[in-house]
Amino acid sequence: MRMRFCRSARRCSHWTVARNSVEKRISSAATAAMVGLSVSRTPLHIWRGKVRCSDPAINAERDNRLRERHGVRLDRLDAKAIRDLEPNLAPLYHRGVLFRDAYTIDSPKALAFALAEAILKRGGTFMCGEARGLMATQAGASVRIDGHEHSADHVVIACGAWSRELAHRIGDRVLLDTERGYHVLFPSAGKLLHRPVCHTEYGFYMTPMADGMRAAGTVELGGLAAPFNPVRTRVIRSAVATLLPGAGEGSAEWLGFRPSMPDSLPVIGAAPSSPRVTYAFGHGHLGLTLAGISGRLIAELVCGRPTTIAVGGLRPDRFNSVGWPRAASQG
Ligand SMILES: Cc1cc2nc3c(=O)[nH]c(=O)nc-3n(C[C@H](O)[C@H](O)[C@H](O)COP(=O)(O)OP(=O)(O)OC[C@H]3O[C@@H](n4cnc5c(N)ncnc54)[C@H](O)[C@@H]3O)c2cc1C
Repeated sequence: MRMRFCRSARRCSHWTVARNSVEKRISSAATAAMVGLSVSRTPLHIWRGKVRCSDPAINAERDNRLRERHGVRLDRLDAKAIRDLEPNLAPLYHRGVLFRDAYTIDSPKALAFALAEAILKRGGTFMCGEARGLMATQAGASVRIDGHEHSADHVVIACGAWSRELAHRIGDRVLLDTERGYHVLFPSAGKLLHRPVCHTEYGFYMTPMADGMRAAGTVELGGLAAPFNPVRTRVIRSAVATLLPGAGEGSAEWLGFRPSMPDSLPVIGAAPSSPRVTYAFGHGHLGLTLAGISGRLIAELVCGRPTTIAVGGLRPDRFNSVGWPRAASQG
């Protein structure tokens, strides 16, 4: 299954979705600012000059030109400019770029709580529990939570990487997998950096957060059931000690499950098996970034209104057409 997922991957872009979320001011950062959370800007990518036989600068520059073609504004920096911005970084870099229009939220948890509060104020209600069953009928859909059936006119499945199993319950097969990522918190290093920094050869970000410095990233194709792999966090800890001397000891570690589709685009659209069920998952590395526009698109679809952007390319069954491998059961 995992090989099929990799084979189906193609160079594809989420630029349209991302750009619209910024232009229409429905990004998570705009929402966070509205509810008074700290939002900062300008993440920094850095890289070395020629290392052995590879040259990270060539790859970085190719990526930067692609970004610029899609309207991403960035400033190219030399080593001195990087040192002036982030003096606590070990000088293991030669070049970098600063992303002018990118934003960071220093507490996704606080954002989630603020949004939940706003929903409650508008009359929404929450029920906590694991959905173990999903059924669709002509008149609506029902979800079984903790042994009780709950019926509704419409159900939205937004369970991240676990959505695949629920979709399967009503006969839909989607080529959803998970790109697992790891996280280590460095509680005493929160003030060492002024912005998120990614040393592009290491594959993770160091980000100042409300509760310390978060080192998070890497990609592991290991499914939902494989155990936590401590080698990953050891590598992150050792790289942080190299890149940011003075970061101190890392504490909390976790493994997260990015819900990913082979083309890096989310699934947003009606379930092929029922117009009463709508899918919203598969946001991969960009679930927080694209949350605002995804929420708007889902609301528009469920209410039968024209959508802010065309969503045909995000439909759940796009991999079932000719030329794509059919979705298989989760491995
Ligand atoms: C290390 C790491 C760093 C990341 N950094 C960024 C970043 O900087 N910016 C960014 O935009 N994105 C980032 N992401 C990606 C982002 O976290 C995901 O894209 C996002 O969480 C996906 O949101 P989701 O709501 O679809 O799924 P999830 O966040 O996985 O949420 C799904 C929820 O559904 C619940 N659930 C599952 N099954 C059931 C069930 N049967 N019944 C009831 N509930 C159920 C789960 O418990 C979970 O709470 C990162 C991810 C990782 C792992």
